[in-house]
Amino acid sequence: MAAPMKFARLSCQTQIKSFCAFSCNKKNLNGIHKARFIHNDHNGGEYDVAVIGGGIVGMATAREMKVRHPNLLFIVLEKEKEISHHQSGHNSGVIHAGIYYTPGSLKAKLCVQGVELLYDYCDKNNIPYNKCGKLIVAVEKEEIPRLEGLLERGNQNGVKDLRMLGPKEIKEIEPNCEGLKAVHSPHTGIIDYKVVTQSYGQTFEKLGGHVYTDFEVTDFSVTKESGHGIDYPVTIRGSGEGKASSREVKCKYVVTCGGLFSDRLAELSGCNREPRIVPFRGDYLLLKPEKTNLVNGNIYPVPNPLFPFLGVHFTPRINGDVWLGPNAVLAFKREGYRLTDFSATDAKDAVSFRGLRKLAMRNLGFGIKEMYRGFNIAAQVKLLQRYVPSLKVSDVTRGPSGVRAQALDRDGNLVDDFVFDVGVGELGSRILHVRNAPSPAATSSLAIAKMVADKVENTFHL
Ligand SMILES: Cc1cc2nc3c(=O)[nH]c(=O)nc-3n(C[C@H](O)[C@H](O)[C@H](O)COP(=O)(O)OP(=O)(O)OC[C@H]3O[C@@H](n4cnc5c(N)ncnc54)[C@H](O)[C@@H]3O)c2cc1C
Repeated sequence: MAAPMKFARLSCQTQIKSFCAFSCNKKNLNGIHKARFIHNDHNGGEYDVAVIGGGIVGMATAREMKVRHPNLLFIVLEKEKEISHHQSGHNSGVIHAGIYYTPGSLKAKLCVQGVELLYDYCDKNNIPYNKCGKLIVAVEKEEIPRLEGLLERGNQNGVKDLRMLGPKEIKEIEPNCEGLKAVHSPHTGIIDYKVVTQSYGQTFEKLGGHVYTDFEVTDFSVTKESGHGIDYPVTIRGSGEGKASSREVKCKYVVTCGGLFSDRLAELSGCNREPRIVPFRGDYLLLKPEKTNLVNGNIYPVPNPLFPFLGVHFTPRINGDVWLGPNAVLAFKREGYRLTDFSATDAKDAVSFRGLRKLAMRNLGFGIKEMYRGFNIAAQVKLLQRYVPSLKVSDVTRGPSGVRAQALDRDGNLVDDFVFDVGVGELGSRILHVRNAPSPAATSSLAIAKMVADKVENTFHL
């Protein structure tokens, strides 16, 4: 088994979330929602680089590489019938400003770069967003030192125009919100990341890139180079539901961006299985349409440093809905969006992993409370009332869900930063894996893509 070479290593840290004021910047869609990626059956096709995974990270990376190398051949292989079907199409839709992340981490750097790149891309490509801002609100005295720490951290990360507000100024931005103090981030925004991913895909295809959907990668193999060399030594095989004369692609190099399956793709190519992905489902509540005026923008709690992804928030959507939540509960199926979804393979995989058992033992109380709030809307609303006391249980209905790919090490620590790997050996040394791309990877997608394209150029000498 090949030992992976780490580009980036773990660095556990805090992620938070927050809320906002306005500065609308809506644009027209120009039919991007209607984009469809054709099942391009390039039988026995040969490519310079194959990207596996048609989420926002895979599509941004494919686009960036094609822009830089218009004469090389690139293909994206996606197991679903459409791109952006999983995390990139099931998230809060927040354009994070970069406040929460450990200064110097990849998350901090790539989020702050990514947010600028994303706004610029959306302006140039007529993708609607709303730079509505965000408030991170302290409701208990004990939270104030952590909130002050966040402001300092955001400033260290280079986030622009952050301000500490008192109760009166909080009310000016959010009349229904109560808080002792709040950090205001005016450049936080909201967007539909599915639309962004589709747009990356359209640009990629327009430049001559190929997208092959309904292609689940099941095997990699390599042909050893002979004296004369072999042009396309890596063979990728796959399966799918639809008819295809062959699901086989040959290429020189591979980049995997497999989201909830990033560890399995790494293992398939002989790389280390760890960090392991454990799926955590997040269920949202929806404000009833007649109640969406209860909030103007994003309202987030001061995060608990032990559980960066916990903490329900109010998030307006670009279509006018308002989502509340999400909670975080262990999912028994990767990509399982309903409470009842179950996969024996995924469940066995999760519970047999010592990292998850250690995490569960250390945090049993938190886990049970999160599950309880998943079942009990009133309990979830009670948490939200800390920020908006006038919110009632009758104001909300159950909403959609998303599943986070949470990377864990074998000691049960959450792997917080983005992680990229290249293996060794004939096969492993031709594959770069995006191992961990949690939030804010959607915000950071264009910056991640630049970094991955640099790594591909430097490692594979494109
Ligand atoms: C509930 C939730 C809320 C979030 N909120 C935000 C937010 O507000 N802001 C933000 O910036 N980020 C947010 N995120 C994080 C963000 O959505 C993810 O970081 C980002 O979407 C990751 O993109 P990806 O391309 O790596 O993964 P994905 O979008 O999951 O894409 C991976 C793709 O790989 C494909 N794939 C997997 N295995 C194979 C295989 N064997 N063969 C072929 N294809 C394969 C999958 O089908 C999938 O399409 C949130 C995430 C969740 C879950």
